Amino acid sequence: MNVLLAGGAGYIGTHTCVELLNAGHSVVIADNYSNSCPEAVARVEEITGKSVVLYEADVCDKAAVDKIFSENKIDAVIHFAGLKAVGESCEKPLLYYRNNIDSTLTLLEAMEKYGVNNFIFSSSATVYGTSDTMPLVETMPTGTPTNPYGMTKLMMEQILTDTAKARPEMSIVILRYFNPIGAHESGRIGEDPNGIPNNLMPFITQVAAGRLSQLGVFGDDYPTPDGTGVRDYIHVVDLAKGHVKAIGYSADHKGVEIVNLGTGMGYSVLDIVKTFEKVNNLTIPYVIKPRRAGDIAVCYADASKAEKVLGWKAEKNLEDMCFDSWNWQSHNVNGYK
Ligand code: NAD
Ligand code: UDP
Repeated sequence: MNVLLAGGAGYIGTHTCVELLNAGHSVVIADNYSNSCPEAVARVEEITGKSVVLYEADVCDKAAVDKIFSENKIDAVIHFAGLKAVGESCEKPLLYYRNNIDSTLTLLEAMEKYGVNNFIFSSSATVYGTSDTMPLVETMPTGTPTNPYGMTKLMMEQILTDTAKARPEMSIVILRYFNPIGAHESGRIGEDPNGIPNNLMPFITQVAAGRLSQLGVFGDDYPTPDGTGVRDYIHVVDLAKGHVKAIGYSADHKGVEIVNLGTGMGYSVLDIVKTFEKVNNLTIPYVIKPRRAGDIAVCYADASKAEKVLGWKAEKNLEDMCFDSWNWQSHNVNGYK
């Protein structure tokens, strides 16, 4: 298939691009580089020995998106092009609602115009809200996300569900990601956040690289075995392979399917720190800080639907995730810069 990756120059997009190319698909990327750079795509081409068609384009821009669909025969769209910083979304809600929702609407309108029916969407476990019941199963009602970023995901799930009802020829697969970490085993692509990282793993790798002095652990008084927050961390290469499976699935599917992409296992912040230290033979200085606003104690997936429906299961373990994260950061201390 010829797959359009909106936001394909980003962290999950580049890893998915590698797996799609390796599986024999061809790829068109549209990215405005608001949180990425063309060098990341050059490295995908280096890893795979294959080329991608690359557009510098804002996928909220109707004319730019139309041009891409008119110049390429697109079979499926994977929509990664979102702003994703939770804190920033509280400060700039309109930016988040405009970018994340407009991009989705613009892509769906172009797909309708050009008769493209297969859409895969990057959603998030955040749509479950603050549920206390674990693991999180796709059949559970969605909750109320605690920030505008999460609300954009919930709203887009609704938009996609309504669109699938109105256009029965469509296949829409909503993938709810848990916590992607790790990097491609080559160490050539990985997560490269702008500014001080919000997320745990890039913060740890930047402490290890000497760019930051110590990790702040947000709370040690949660009702978890060691008191720190528990999450379902998933290797980004496993996540990327989940998209390849979703593309294959969408070829024979109609309607909307919601699938968790997680491992089904929960690890605490201190589990991550200790495993990172062990596999990389490093020490990560840390200090316990107050809880971060909006955080929940525990979050992990029921990952059985992905296996049943997509034939996909995460294969890499926490050691792999910690090793590959540091392999990327240590060979690219300043990311792609
Ligand atoms: P990322 O920021 O690395 O990638 C997103 C890409 O989209 C970037 O390259 C950015 O430049 C691009 N982009 C943003 N707005 C755009 C626009 N209007 N037009 C064109 N390009 C645009 O983020 P990621 O971690 O790769 O996440 C990909 C998707 O997965 C996002 O939608 C994110 O919300 C979702 N997600 C990520 C996580 C995570 O922890 N990384 C978890 C759950 C869901
Ligand atoms: N966390 C932390 N210090 C940091 C960043 C994150 O202790 O500098 C904790 C956070 O409180 C949560 C876990 O690490 O328990 C994962 O946070 P992250 O922001 O990576 O993902 P989230 O699950 O919030 O989307």
